[in-house]
Formats: sequence, C-alpha cells, structure tokens
Amino acid sequence: MLTVFGSTALDTIRTPKKTLKNVLGGAATFAAISASNFVDTGLIAVVGKDFPKKYHNILKKYLDLEGLAIENGKTFRYDGKYDQTLSTRSTLKTELNVLGNFQPVVPEKYRKSEFVYLANNDPEQNIKLIKEFDKVKFSMCDTIDFWISTKRNAVIKMIKNVDAVVINDEEAKLLTKEHNLIKCAKTMKKWGANYIIIKKGEHGSMMFFDDVIFPSPGFSLEDVVDPTGAGDSFAGAMIGYLASKKSTKFSEIKKAVVYGNVLGSFAVEKYGLNGLLQIKKGDINKRLKIYEKMIQF
Ligand code: AMP
Repeated sequence: MLTVFGSTALDTIRTPKKTLKNVLGGAATFAAISASNFVDTGLIAVVGKDFPKKYHNILKKYLDLEGLAIENGKTFRYDGKYDQTLSTRSTLKTELNVLGNFQPVVPEKYRKSEFVYLANNDPEQNIKLIKEFDKVKFSMCDTIDFWISTKRNAVIKMIKNVDAVVINDEEAKLLTKEHNLIKCAKTMKKWGANYIIIKKGEHGSMMFFDDVIFPSPGFSLEDVVDPTGAGDSFAGAMIGYLASKKSTKFSEIKKAVVYGNVLGSFAVEKYGLNGLLQIKKGDINKRLKIYEKMIQF
C-alpha cells in the first residue's frame, strides 16, 4: 500500500481561456489519484465542513479515505493565475484554513506502508508524519515557493528525512540559492536525500543519484490547457509505480520517472483533475509505448 499525505484543496485556477472556481485540487489529491492507477493508495489530508459531497465522492472512487479528516472550518484554498503561455503561474492567494493547525493521525492500516509520499504541505507536519510509519522503504517529498519562503529551515530538515525529493526547477533554485540544476541537486543531496528529481515543466525532468544524471523528456503535446497538478501527478505516478513493484532498484526508479512524465501529460490536457479522471484502461501503456518510440535513437 502507498500512503500520500498533503493538501486537498478547493482551487481557483485562472488560465488565459478559462477560470475555474473552487474546483477539487490539492497536491495530495492529484498525486494520490495519479498513484491509484498503479497501486492501492491511502490519503491523509484534511478538509473543512464546506467540502462538497460531489468531490468527496470522487476521492472515494479512487482512494482509501480512512486518513481523510473533516474538521470544522473552511477547506484549504489556492488561487493561481497563468500567463498567456501557460508556463508561469503566479499565486494570488493561499488560504491554509483547516490545514493550518492540522494534527494528522495515521490510521493503523497505513502504518505499515513501505512507500510514503509527502506531497506539497507544511514541512513541519510532513516531518512529524513520516516518523509515524513503521517500515518505510522509500519516501519522497515535494515543496512549493510558499513553504520555501515561510519555513525554509523546516523544508531543509524535511529533505533530511526522506529518500527522494521531487521539485520544480524554479523552486529548486529558490530553495538552494543556486542557479545551475546540478548544483541545486548537489546541495539537496548534501542535506540528506539520495535521489533528487528536478521537474522542468513541459521539458520533462532530471534525476540525480550518486554521480548519475538521468534526463527524461516530457511527453510532447500540442494542446495544453491547464498545467495545474502536473508535478503532483508526476510524483504520484512515480511512487505509485515503485510501490506496485515493491522495488527501489535504480532501474525501476528510472522507469518510474518515465511513468511520471506520462501521467503528467494526461494532467495538463484537461482542466483541473479531469485529465487524470478521464484516463481509461490501456491509455497509460499506449502512451508509454509512444514515449519509448519518441526517445529511441
Ligand atoms: P502544482 O501545479 O504541481 O504546483 O500543484 C498545484 C496544487 O498544489 C494545487 O492543486 C494547489 O491546491 C496545491 N498547492 C498550492 N499551494 C500550496 C501550498 N502552499 N501547500 C500545499 N499545497 C499547495
């Protein structure tokens, strides 16, 4: 079993063509639903009493929700706006609401998860939570500019406590105060994680392990409508695939990165979560085959 911890949100997403208001989002939501294509996935998260029943039903369809708390107050809200090219997003508002003082409880049956993903979330909560698991074989975390700006030391401490970091290029630079991605990765490795995966949006990712660099291109698409959650879908697919193989062999981690790129590509084709929700059986492997052809030479 895989456990995913992090934000479940009501997102407002402003793209050049369309604005979505209070739609189901959150880093853990995208990651867990992406992972559920590969393995049974439990979600630890919190929502408020305002969380719509229809969104609860979507989560229930894909995930084990024993770890989902419903608390008095409002659900975490995020508001972001893309530029004309869809390559840059500015944050207009981050309202932590019930996420602010959340004291997560790990359900008994999740404690034995060997694979744990700490999606974008308060790094202090993430550090506390990872210690609650009895036999973690592979843990991974992400972060975002909001936490780097408000709790940088805790982000660094979180990196000490995980096997892998998956992070956007811009955030890697902001966090490490370096400009070159190899230098960024070296700094994060010094802080404690063994695998550093730097995501580069539509350009794919670079993984750093020991002295190996594994670049992996994005799955080329002509029509992108909403990149929200692509990085989370990437990470969810990665750790979901590894959990399904119960493996942390480097060859499998490389394959996991490729699945990350493939699931990220589904996420950006439709608005909000729709890209992930509309994946049908066989779609992932079909796209994987095209991807393999794409990179063969
Ligand atoms: P991504 O597009 O991969 O950066 O992920 C976007 C998702 O992250 C959105 O659905 C947001 O709800 C969520 N998110 C944005 N800011 C934060 C934050 N400070 N902490 C946790 N989750 C966040």
